[in-house]
Amino acid sequence: MTEQVRWVDWEKEEVAEYFQVNPSVGLSEKEAKKRLDQVGPNQLSEGGEISLLALFIDQFKDFMVLVLLAATLISGLLGEYTDAIAIIAIVFLNAGLGFFQEVRAEKSLQALKKLSAPTAKVKRDRKWIKIEAQQLVPGDIVALESGDRIPADVRLIDTENLYVEESALTGESVPVSKNSAALPRADVSLGDRRNMGYMGTMIVRGNGTGIVVHTGMGTEMGRIAHLIENTEAMDTPLKRRLEQLGKVLIVVAFFLTALVVVTGIYHGHDAYKMFLAGVSLAVAAIPEGLPAIVTIALALGVQRMIKRRAIVRKLPSVETLGCATVICSDKTGTLTQNKMTVTHIWADQALFQVTGDGYDPKGDILLERKKVNVRKWASLERLMEIAALCNNASFLPKEKKGMFHKNGGWEIDGDPTEGALMVVAHKAGFDRRRLDAEWKRLKEYPFDSERKMMSVLVQHSSGKQFLYAKGAPDVLLNKCTHLFVDGKLMPLTEAGRKKIMQTNEQLAARALRNLAFAYRDIKPSAKTMQDWQAEQQLVFVGLAGMIDPPRQEVKKAIRQSKKAGIKTVMITGDHQNTAVAIATELGIKRANGLTLTGQDLYNMRDEEFLKIVNDVDVYARVSPEHKLRIVKALQKKGHVVAMTGDGVNDAPAIKAADIGIAMGIAGTDVSKEASSLILADDNFATIVSAVEEGRNIYENIRKFISYLLASNVGEILIMFLAMLASLPLPLVPIQILWVNLVTDGLPAMALGVDPAEENTMARPPRNSRESIFVRGVGWKIVTRGLLIGLCSLAAFWIAYMETPENLVRAQTVAFATLVLSQLVYVYDCRSQGTIFQRTPLDNPMLAMAVLSSVILLAVVIYYPPLGPVFHTVSLGFREWVLVIVTSTLPVLVAGLIDLLRPSAFHKKPARTAVEG
Ligand code: ATP
Repeated sequence: MTEQVRWVDWEKEEVAEYFQVNPSVGLSEKEAKKRLDQVGPNQLSEGGEISLLALFIDQFKDFMVLVLLAATLISGLLGEYTDAIAIIAIVFLNAGLGFFQEVRAEKSLQALKKLSAPTAKVKRDRKWIKIEAQQLVPGDIVALESGDRIPADVRLIDTENLYVEESALTGESVPVSKNSAALPRADVSLGDRRNMGYMGTMIVRGNGTGIVVHTGMGTEMGRIAHLIENTEAMDTPLKRRLEQLGKVLIVVAFFLTALVVVTGIYHGHDAYKMFLAGVSLAVAAIPEGLPAIVTIALALGVQRMIKRRAIVRKLPSVETLGCATVICSDKTGTLTQNKMTVTHIWADQALFQVTGDGYDPKGDILLERKKVNVRKWASLERLMEIAALCNNASFLPKEKKGMFHKNGGWEIDGDPTEGALMVVAHKAGFDRRRLDAEWKRLKEYPFDSERKMMSVLVQHSSGKQFLYAKGAPDVLLNKCTHLFVDGKLMPLTEAGRKKIMQTNEQLAARALRNLAFAYRDIKPSAKTMQDWQAEQQLVFVGLAGMIDPPRQEVKKAIRQSKKAGIKTVMITGDHQNTAVAIATELGIKRANGLTLTGQDLYNMRDEEFLKIVNDVDVYARVSPEHKLRIVKALQKKGHVVAMTGDGVNDAPAIKAADIGIAMGIAGTDVSKEASSLILADDNFATIVSAVEEGRNIYENIRKFISYLLASNVGEILIMFLAMLASLPLPLVPIQILWVNLVTDGLPAMALGVDPAEENTMARPPRNSRESIFVRGVGWKIVTRGLLIGLCSLAAFWIAYMETPENLVRAQTVAFATLVLSQLVYVYDCRSQGTIFQRTPLDNPMLAMAVLSSVILLAVVIYYPPLGPVFHTVSLGFREWVLVIVTSTLPVLVAGLIDLLRPSAFHKKPARTAVEG
């Protein structure tokens, strides 16, 4: 018998005793810590870490670097010690830089993975708290809720309609119904252990509680952990494209340097010297650092996103974010605050007002401005009873820690809709503690967004049993046959229904979110009934309308996304009028924009829907299944779609969307797993910030590509032209390598963290298939590269003509010009336009990088012991004038030309954005 099987035939009390835990108290924090030290964290052991040594050695795997090292070694053996040592030092420095970049990239990726680690709701010291699932220990009491994955192996002690999908373990994809009863035999197969829940399996319906019996590698999942491939693709399309580009560039650089060498030898240069120069040039010209810098730019951008409360789960989505043309957002909690307050109640044909603010349980129920005695209104009284009993939330004064929602001096533990109902019941004098003494809950048919309702089977101390239900008004009304008025039951007539729906619409038009309440007497045998059997022939009691104010920052975010060519669409389970009222207030709904309901969608054929999908601003009364259809239709129309969701049923749409977005607070594990982005604060405005970051990251990658490649073009060109013109070598190998080290290094990295251009969110979304080189980048590489090469050569030529006997002086001038012109050019790369379009000092990292490069240049030129190593001499005033003029000329001249032909930078993207 395996160890796991042990719990199956034990009574739950025996299991609790074995683990020395009282299920209503949970473990103490102290005890939990002790157990954690004993058994270790609740995690499956990970695959091997990357070895640092291997990563360092990797830096030398590049073929040209090996050739350079070999050539240097030979020159060392031939007696050129200084050169050899200096070149080797630079190669090592370069490898060190690459190594540092890659370690940093890897570390950021690992940190990212940790951020999206799963959490568990656990009872410790009598309180439910959320902790990292890793911290769970045997004996912990955990809550299991629909949509979450079971965080460890548990013996169930309490279940409500709990269904778990265990295919990861058993291969059986049909969800298994679970309960907490002990089985007669222990040796049943895994799939039949109805009172156990296993780590990693998914709760598809209902909820429950369990005692953790095994954690980490001790779980069933742990046993097969080696079978599970858990490698998330962290490669991005852009990175892959750049790697391909890199391969092309290697061939091109190789060919060009070979050309330089051959031309040089043809014009009488020493073959060996030309070979060394050629190899150095190849090493310099091959942008081997590109993928690492891309990863760093992505990872740093992702860290900036985290600061703005967006957690990226899949790196490729960073790129896609910048292309988003439509954001489909849930309403409740994302566009609104999800801080509900009941303000109106309709019962006994009268509309009552509720006073009081937030979750503070102080306030009155008024009718025509006069306080009413709730006990005198039978329906109102019954409604309050249902509101309090058909409810899983509680509200507490704020001092008590460990709760999730805050507002004023009180906070809610649980769903805000239910919290608001608990508060209004309290205002009406329905205190939960008193109710608990009178009533017993026998069963719950839990809420889910598909059903749009929930109900409980309750028993009064007098022995009477009722089914108390609440839910979306239209859904509940459909299940009602009677109406409760003045304490009497009346058949529900067509006119009665109409009146209820009218009231519902009136309330909804004031942006109130409404719930309906109903009940029925029910037989004691009802406990075994399915939800659809129990939830019928109900008696309608009344409506409660609550406000859920829009989030303050959302209006601005919607305006911003409109400007950025991104359309926002509201998708909600709420009533159409409520949705339209809020969508209009937020600026989502345009005057001529359409509103569709779930029913409309249901009745519509795909072709019809496709015709109007671009015009729809609001989807109301939709179920999660509709979301998938909306995503697909928008994608068919060529949109890049971001879609939010929180429930299990949202997962398919989140997965299908180009950018699937899950809620950090309200989201289920399943929705988070399907998502590529998680909003830590569930806030719509965070999506817009993430889009802005996404656009900026992509632009920054384009910036340093344009920087690196133009610099390389310049380097190759000066050498090639000099050889063509039968001039001496303008740069010696060590200088070429030095230029490469300095340019590939700090300035390029600083471009990766460049702040966004002001107009980043004023441009239409980028086409996801556009090349990196469009919108000015390719043009810049060619023009600036050409001019840098020409001007450096000119500087060399002028200096050489003045003093042909002092070649070192001319080479120093060429060297300084090349370095400086690249340092000037780096500022040109910061804008899609010209160098004149940005303030140079708003990227302090870049200023530091450029300054340190200038200092390094000065050291190499003026520190006497380095003169022989770098083949440099001190430069005087005259030379500096020459250097400065020729190094600033390329960017100034090219900038002026571009000002005269601005169209190069403002080409329209291939696909037009949605009209805002
Ligand atoms: P969203 O805008 O994010 O879709 P929503 O609350 O409108 O939010 P759901 O959470 O799917 O969407 O809820 C659908 C409907 O179910 C709600 O409009 C409401 O009528 C009803 N409902 C919501 N919460 C509960 C609850 N706790 N008990 C019963 N019915 C509920």
